[in-house]
Amino acid sequence: MIDLHCHILPEVDDGSVSNEMSIEMAKRAVSEGITAIVATPHHQNGRYLNEKEAILHGVEKLNSLLLHEGVPLTILPGQENRIYGEILDDYHQDKILTLNNTGKYLFIEFPSSQVPRYAERLLFDIQSQGIIPIIVHPERNSRLLEDPDLLYNFINKGALAQVTASSLVGHFGKKIKKFSHQLIDANLVHFVSSDAHNLQHRSFHMQAAIDVIESEHGRDYYYMFLENAQCVVDGTQCYKESPEKIMRKKFLGIF
Ligand code: FE
Repeated sequence: MIDLHCHILPEVDDGSVSNEMSIEMAKRAVSEGITAIVATPHHQNGRYLNEKEAILHGVEKLNSLLLHEGVPLTILPGQENRIYGEILDDYHQDKILTLNNTGKYLFIEFPSSQVPRYAERLLFDIQSQGIIPIIVHPERNSRLLEDPDLLYNFINKGALAQVTASSLVGHFGKKIKKFSHQLIDANLVHFVSSDAHNLQHRSFHMQAAIDVIESEHGRDYYYMFLENAQCVVDGTQCYKESPEKIMRKKFLGIF
């Protein structure tokens, strides 16, 4: 199993704070059946800046450490980019890193309670460069929770989305859990990843999430999520079904 979203690189953001902690996280990942992790440090989120070159270097260092410790896990380079207007300029200046550096898939994070007005245009511009934007954890964005049609619109126009494993099993509360499953049912998410930051409060929960996906949504979704993660790492085309709108229950059953 591949985890596309994880803050396992030490001392670069609010994830792992040391080499020792990164090794412990790696061991836990292996115990859950994870064989490769895309390290995705925060970038441009108002607190952290992690540019491409530094991430590539950090990934190399962590891989040799894991090899030395005998932990059978491969770390691949990635970046969690908060959406900002100059992202494509920075991409062309080699500051922005696509997932596994294939030039195909780019993580985009919205601020937690809003979706900027320019998002639609920017997602379009990213695609016109041959890069597919992947919206990270839409289930935890309060604006999208209020108005899921916004997400439907982005997905309908070619973006993909990643749901967080711990959201699916309820660690972010009932509302987010329910919304996460609705997103799967409406074909509005294409990946499940851990977004693990540590082993205490923000751990992997990938095995639990995959089990829930299989039992609640069926084997097809289970396989689709596993294979899509591989497609991203390989830079090949992902599987997707036609997105649907999430039906909201209206007052007194009037539709
Ligand atoms: Fe993250």
